[in-house]
Amino acid sequence: MNSPLEYEYVPVPAFDDNYIWVVSDGRNAIAVDPGEAAPVRAYLAKRGWRLVAILLTHHHNDHVGGVADLLNGQRVPVYGPAGEALGPLDPFVTRVKGGDRVQLAAPALDFTVLDVPGHTRGHIAYFQAGDPAGVPHLFCGDTLFACGCGRLFEGSPAQMLASLDSLAALPGKTEVHCAHEYTLSNIRFALACDPDNAALHTWSRDAAALRERGVPTLPTTIAHERAVNPFLRAGDPSVQASLADQLHETVSDRLAAFTLMREWKNRFR
Ligand SMILES: [Zn+2]
Repeated sequence: MNSPLEYEYVPVPAFDDNYIWVVSDGRNAIAVDPGEAAPVRAYLAKRGWRLVAILLTHHHNDHVGGVADLLNGQRVPVYGPAGEALGPLDPFVTRVKGGDRVQLAAPALDFTVLDVPGHTRGHIAYFQAGDPAGVPHLFCGDTLFACGCGRLFEGSPAQMLASLDSLAALPGKTEVHCAHEYTLSNIRFALACDPDNAALHTWSRDAAALRERGVPTLPTTIAHERAVNPFLRAGDPSVQASLADQLHETVSDRLAAFTLMREWKNRFR
């Protein structure tokens, strides 16, 4: 029998740069945002783990596309956003929204649901206040990335900024399980926004070394993102000065800085 301290949080690679997070107690496992079934099934088989629940953060196909295949007639509970249509999956999904709890017996997991609109209108995140070792965990889909944030497909900059503020307010040691390996390209952009940030330069070297060895740069932590992620630093005077200088714009407040930064990122190469 494994002790609860041996819970594993594993990023299973899918598509080009997605991670499907699998959490296991050594026997049973959950999958977060399985856009593809095959990599999850292969990984579970390799470890001898049984899939007991699926969590979904938003409706995009690279996050939900593998669910039907994984269910394949099994009674596995699926939790997903109350505010988004999930097509043929709709009858199988238990709808949750900000403030709701998702409680599982094995693995023993207790998530609080957070509303984090912006990338999509009904995007949610799952926050585990503490694992058996006391470490909090966040599954945030395409809202917060290491050194970046999701594109605004459906929401406004003000919504996304409020969503990121709520995530940035979580405990600093929270491990952040993002859904994509975008870190190196995000760091290139972050360096353009925040060129004098020493912590960011250090992270740039460390992240590059990890990727050279094929190692995920995730999870990150909330404390680390507060220090290096320009989208969490829109209120920082040096970030605002750098944006004003490079974009030849007046940066009146942090929402203006965030909006300019998000638009710049969309065209940044
Ligand atoms: Zn998405």
